[in-house]
Amino acid sequence: MSMTFSADEEFATQLDAEDPLRAFRDKFHLPLGKDGKPLIYFAGNSLGLMPKAARQVVDQELDDWAKLGVDAHLDAKTPWYTYHEPLREPIARLIGAKPVEVICMNSLTVNLHLMMATFYRPTKSRFKVLMEDPAFPSDTYAIKTQIVHHGLDPKDALILARPRKGEFTVRTEDIVDLIEKNRDTLAVVMIAGVNFFTGQLFDIRTITKAAQKHGITVGVDLAHAIGNVPLALHDWNVDFAVWCSYKYLNAGPGAVAGAFVQERHATNTELPRLAGWFGNDPNTRFRLHLEPEFIPVPSADAWQISNPPIFSMAPLRASLSIFDEAGGMEALRAKSIRLTGYLEFLLDRAGAKRFGVITPRETDARGCQLSILAQEHPKELFNKLQAAGVKCDFREPNVIRVAPTPLYNAFHEVWRFAQIVNTHR
Ligand SMILES: *Cc1c(COP(=O)(O)O)cnc(C)c1O
Repeated sequence: MSMTFSADEEFATQLDAEDPLRAFRDKFHLPLGKDGKPLIYFAGNSLGLMPKAARQVVDQELDDWAKLGVDAHLDAKTPWYTYHEPLREPIARLIGAKPVEVICMNSLTVNLHLMMATFYRPTKSRFKVLMEDPAFPSDTYAIKTQIVHHGLDPKDALILARPRKGEFTVRTEDIVDLIEKNRDTLAVVMIAGVNFFTGQLFDIRTITKAAQKHGITVGVDLAHAIGNVPLALHDWNVDFAVWCSYKYLNAGPGAVAGAFVQERHATNTELPRLAGWFGNDPNTRFRLHLEPEFIPVPSADAWQISNPPIFSMAPLRASLSIFDEAGGMEALRAKSIRLTGYLEFLLDRAGAKRFGVITPRETDARGCQLSILAQEHPKELFNKLQAAGVKCDFREPNVIRVAPTPLYNAFHEVWRFAQIVNTHR
């Protein structure tokens, strides 16, 4: 797709008029500023906006609880006992998985621990974990404590793939080099789909290939990737993945998260795991009076420990319908590329001296987020943006993260944002 942009305001209006997804904005509640007008909400990488349909789905569950009590487990409009099941296919579509490989459960970091319990079983020779740096703090805590949990020291067992001096993102070739250098000692490569700080989209296929060539397991954290970029986890042969649903998936604060387990592992009932009753074969799940023997479901469901948290799952149903209605990730990605490309174009006009975008320039190496390095008076600029009704995110000391999303953001909002930034002195 060749993109020629213009900096005129009319051009922004025209892009909105031609946008086939423009009507989706109305499916969301847009937070209002002090002037009663919608904020320019570029914080969907942190907490996605509320789908209007979420209230009705949650109300339905409250009503079913009120009217049916315990019987709602089987008799609710969407029975609670199997509430995770209708989520499976729409989520699988978003990440390029088979339904058997997907389970919505818990929160992201909990799922990371559950996956590591199965896939990180260090031996004397293979005990290292490779991550990117900087990774999201929670992932670092999880991985370091996994290492310590096995009686090892992160100083010996944790390898960090860092950007080169003077660069901000990690080169794929450097990750592959580190894998090669540690080919006999690495147990797991744990990488983000999209890095939370720089917005870099990793080449998951290449990294997975490079690691698996040497028998190394690959896990991916999709927190900033799911609902943001197209993914093909099954075809890329990723071993496992985890994500949360409150960022680009718009499923609400603390919404139920998910995990992906590659088919060959998901159907392997011999794998060690931390188990609970909802990972057990439903036919024998309730034999509580017998001495229960754990019989795993031959799918990603085997990692499901507890019964589904209905109120943190309900909004996800509303949100996933919107993704399907929009035509899935391909349609959203087409707009997203234009939206972010337009933002980049307008920022470039401000001059590279005052602003550096540390997110990769290449479309296939990023999602919707741009991370702007403000060289001069960064905090003042951020305050100015806030005062002008822009919701974005500031990372000390000088990085402003903005994430225009294709579902509810408009080209004209990008234009207004750039007006504020480009007049900053
Ligand atoms: C947002 C995010 C998390 C959040 O973890 P929770 O368990 O949902 O609190 C973890 N990892 C990454 C990479 C994130 O971006």
